[in-house]
Amino acid sequence: MPVPPSSPSIEDEVTLARYPFLPQASAWIRSLAHRHAIDLDELLEGSWMDKARQRARLRLVDTVQSKEGVQVAGGDIHTEEGRLVEAFSFYYARLVVCASEDERLVARWAQAEAARAEQLLILDEANLEVLANTYLSEIRRSQKVAATTVVGAPGMTLRQQRQGASDVWQIGLSDFIEICPKITGHRWRLPNADVSEGWVTLHNERTYASSAKVARLLRERIKASIEADALEKMADINTDLAVRLAEPVGMVRNLMASKASEAIALVGADEQDWPPCMQRIVADLSAGVNVNHFGRLFLASMASTLALPQESCVNFFRGAPDFSEATTSYQVQHVYQHGYTPSGCGKLKINHNCPVLPGDNRTCDQPWMDHPLKYIRATQRWKRLTQPSPAAEPSASPTAPDSTAEDTPGNDNDRA
Ligand code: SF4
Repeated sequence: MPVPPSSPSIEDEVTLARYPFLPQASAWIRSLAHRHAIDLDELLEGSWMDKARQRARLRLVDTVQSKEGVQVAGGDIHTEEGRLVEAFSFYYARLVVCASEDERLVARWAQAEAARAEQLLILDEANLEVLANTYLSEIRRSQKVAATTVVGAPGMTLRQQRQGASDVWQIGLSDFIEICPKITGHRWRLPNADVSEGWVTLHNERTYASSAKVARLLRERIKASIEADALEKMADINTDLAVRLAEPVGMVRNLMASKASEAIALVGADEQDWPPCMQRIVADLSAGVNVNHFGRLFLASMASTLALPQESCVNFFRGAPDFSEATTSYQVQHVYQHGYTPSGCGKLKINHNCPVLPGDNRTCDQPWMDHPLKYIRATQRWKRLTQPSPAAEPSASPTAPDSTAEDTPGNDNDRA
């Protein structure tokens, strides 16, 4: 991604405590550790770090359970103790996430921390520019405009509302093109953007200030940066550290598992027949991991084909980071009304929605497997044949069915 090669300097400790994921915060956290003699033992078990570990647990619980991300309010970062709690709670939570070796949890945690940062940045006019220059290669304030149409808009600070003016920001086209596919909504589609000479103008709207749009774009870059950083640090977790972190890792894993089973239980029986691709998308969404447009459309069209209730299909998406009841209901209704055919394995693989590799799943490994609906039919056939019944002869298996008997679930012609 086109991030700046170097980050602007940030000396203010309050800012670094508020945004402890910043690349500029690493050296500061190291200096804090040195100043207060905080080593790994102290962080994991010492009484001095009790409050930081408690705040870290809240960060992790919010990661799994809160749609808004990690709670904004933490310690009082205008005190040295408050800054210690914020800095080391972030550090400890990252250790736990890395020790879990669960990439979905890493993604979920990065998403939750980035959502918190977005909420803070919407109100933090003083730091918006320096964070924008940290994560975006081309960003500038273009002008001040009278704010008759934006006063009172969410995302405007009190000072802006009093002044009756608001900045209009512009972002470089390459940054916009890289980030906007990750954000839903018509205003983020390139054909709807105001592009001129390589810059995209983020206009103020009545309900969406230009600065709030910058914060939304930053959220995606911050998430990607936190996630990449955590995945890299996973390699540093040795067995001893993993054992010492087993309790908080178990706590967060259990939370993740109960979230996933809640989502699957919503649609009742036979979810065990679903193909791995469908199960993975449902589990990812329930864990708050972003699923691409193709995967979402596939899930909705599968739900429609399997005649699951529309409300159940909407419920699949409740954990999505950008869930909106009204938008999702409308889109699901559209898919159900038009009877979209679910995509086949080929397209799912190309679009990174097939989670299996050769050898992972015997049914998916079969040469005839080219559509997820075939997976379901094969599984159901196998169940019918193996259920205790005088008429049933267990002579076939889903891993080796009669290929001529394999019915074809329509073509691979989704209308995405
Ligand atoms: S091989 Fe096909 S059915 Fe199996 S997980 Fe991949 S996309 Fe789904």
